[in-house]
Amino acid sequence: MRVLSGIQPTGRPHWGNYFGAIRQYIDLQENNDGFYFIADLHALTTVRHPDQLRQNVIDTALDMLALGLDPNKATLFVQSQIPEVTELTWLLMTGTPMGLLERCHAYKDKKEKGLSADAGLFTYPVLMAADILAYDSQIVPVGADQIQHIEVCRDLVGSFHHTFGETFVLPKAKTLDVGAKVPGTDGQKMSKSYDNTLPLFGDVKKIRKQIMRIVTDSRPMEDPKEPEGDHLFELYQLFATPAEVEAMAAKYRAGGFGYGEIKKAVAEVSETHFETARTRRDELEKDLDSVRDILDAGAKRAREVAAAVVDRARTACGLR
Ligand code: ATP
Ligand code: MG
Repeated sequence: MRVLSGIQPTGRPHWGNYFGAIRQYIDLQENNDGFYFIADLHALTTVRHPDQLRQNVIDTALDMLALGLDPNKATLFVQSQIPEVTELTWLLMTGTPMGLLERCHAYKDKKEKGLSADAGLFTYPVLMAADILAYDSQIVPVGADQIQHIEVCRDLVGSFHHTFGETFVLPKAKTLDVGAKVPGTDGQKMSKSYDNTLPLFGDVKKIRKQIMRIVTDSRPMEDPKEPEGDHLFELYQLFATPAEVEAMAAKYRAGGFGYGEIKKAVAEVSETHFETARTRRDELEKDLDSVRDILDAGAKRAREVAAAVVDRARTACGLR
């Protein structure tokens, strides 16, 4: 199966990116043809500093490789190295109803948060559809927040086929039961743009401080607490074994137990979880040329696939 997914270099990848998406990339690279990209064109809607963007791209690549993405099993590349995708975006855009994009919650949410809404942000789901369609992707592993955008992609395939005939592969989203919507330090969805993230790598002491600052309710320590729906418990669940999760749930229900204790537990399990990847990242960072080579080789392979698909789409539209 052709599996495809992307991550925006809008900041450092975080726990949500890993448990919702990157973990799936790594699992699926084993028995599928995985195409994974760093979505720098998408990031341009938020990152307006060229040096920052370049740094974020390299950091994101390092994080993905350190976590176990294997360039011998999957294709890793940078979105903007495949110009065919932007051409396909235009072809799709000419058949995209405004109303479809107006309903997209990523756009609506950003607008409601007072962030300026430019045409790039508004048409973001069309670029995402082009990303998916350009590689004949069948499966798109994502977090829950992206399901709506994949629905948009499926709608666009439907209308394109209605007008021009069968051209694209119809993709399907794939989400996990646990990890599809990881909460951030404020209890909202963890997002690079909401400043509530817990990073995968970086200074352990600093991350520990961030964990200790996770917002909790102010009920007295003695009160028994319900683990279900508690965001600290949800974070703990990402890392702990079923037996550990059971034991923690029992502590919650028994009461007499403070949030400080579970924060410490979250810090410990997360540090252990990413230990091997941390060592691997330090190694990879010493050889950035190899990382660039991996990205170039990935782009070459991805471009060959995209060129053939976009050619099909051009012909279907009558551009030849
Ligand atoms: P931004 O705020 O810039 O949109 P982001 O934190 O939402 O950044 P993206 O790069 O947009 O991260 O998303 C990359 C992948 O990670 C997507 O598949 C997305 O669904 C997934 N993802 C993002 N945040 C979470 C989260 N909190 N829980 C689970 N999956 C997530
Ligand atoms: Mg996002």
